[in-house]
Amino acid sequence: MKKILILLGPPGAGKGTVGAHLARQWGIPLISSGDLLRESVRNSTELGQQARQFMVRGQLVPDRLVLGLIGQRLARTDAAGGFILDGFPRTAAQAEALSQLLDEENFRVIYLKASDDFLVERLSNRRVCELCGAIFHLINIPPRQPGVCDSCGGRLIQRDDDQPEVIRNRLAVYHEQTTPLLNYYRQAGRLTEVSGERPLQETLETIQQQCPW
Ligand code: ADP
Ligand code: ZN
Repeated sequence: MKKILILLGPPGAGKGTVGAHLARQWGIPLISSGDLLRESVRNSTELGQQARQFMVRGQLVPDRLVLGLIGQRLARTDAAGGFILDGFPRTAAQAEALSQLLDEENFRVIYLKASDDFLVERLSNRRVCELCGAIFHLINIPPRQPGVCDSCGGRLIQRDDDQPEVIRNRLAVYHEQTTPLLNYYRQAGRLTEVSGERPLQETLETIQQQCPW
């Protein structure tokens, strides 16, 4: 059975951290729209230059840009046996485009749920590796050596959009644009709600129990 998991939930709910663990365990790629976009920005591609202006404000990047990136990524051979999506779909139009691509596949959708206050606290303490993208939390998942990535020795930085004001804006955008997707997948009978406020290990176990593979 092809393993296809869609992780939905607000910024900071743990999609990236949970996704990285499950992807390693299942031997399938974690496909993060945010990472793909940040890579385009870093490489200063045409698409990256257009996307950047939306990202720094915490706004959504226009669907046509995101759909192009995701479509290309899903077409790569490493995604043939399945994949985990993090941060995509984010709008009703993206969900519709994805359902065309997935056709009859038996995918699962996990909604990682957490309160706004919890998320602001967690995102303010988030640090990411400049080189490999590994995610840390100053209190819950601290690096062995302050400011240094455990995996690759890279420098840990705070994302530009992890400042409290931008975080609040990302949460507002999330509630407005992404909440309708929850109903869409709930009605389709695909959705399982899982708390994003529990310790990582517990969250991973709960999700594994929900997946039929
Ligand atoms: P988070 O989920 O923590 O907000 P991401 O890394 O997923 O962080 O996304 C960072 C930014 O990239 C978003 O604020 C948005 O500007 C853009 N982005 C990521 N995924 C999408 C998407 N599917 N559609 C539109 N914009 C996106
Ligand atoms: Zn690293």
